[in-house]
Amino acid sequence: MFILSSGSWWEAYPCQRSLYDEAKRRSLTYEAFDTCPFRKPCEGRAMRYYCPKCWCDFGDDVTCCPYCGTNIAEFLQGKDYAEKLIIALGHPEPETPIRAAWALGELGDERAVEPLISLIERTQDVYTASAAVKVLARLGTAQARRFLRGIASTHPAAMVRDTATQALVNLAGRGKTRRKPI
Ligand SMILES: [Zn+2]
Repeated sequence: MFILSSGSWWEAYPCQRSLYDEAKRRSLTYEAFDTCPFRKPCEGRAMRYYCPKCWCDFGDDVTCCPYCGTNIAEFLQGKDYAEKLIIALGHPEPETPIRAAWALGELGDERAVEPLISLIERTQDVYTASAAVKVLARLGTAQARRFLRGIASTHPAAMVRDTATQALVNLAGRGKTRRKPI
């Protein structure tokens, strides 16, 4: 379960905006990702689910993937929410890793650092890489900072280098003032 607490989600996923507004109007807490990070909220009105192995999507929250036969329930059993989000970083459509990265930043789970680094290293999508850079900065571990310092000058995409540079500036600023809890 995940509680929505900032605007980033609906900016990236406008289809969620009306749900959020409605929740706000009624002073309710809007819960996104309430059960499964493999939900795909932007596909029309119907909710879609992903297979965490072959990434095919389907309309029902089924136990076994109808395409590759993976026992999804078994595959995800024992994995906590952050671990499921980390798996979702591997989805081939950029919107899912971006959404998962953002949620990992909200959780502040440092186990996401290495998977985010891997994502930045392998993705060809500058928006995905930039989103992951921002989350790494938010997690702010020594390993994350070291990686950001490296790619700020070496990443092949200017947008990613700029995002990393800005993130490091923000981190330095955050270090000077009292560090806020994430
Ligand atoms: Zn499958």
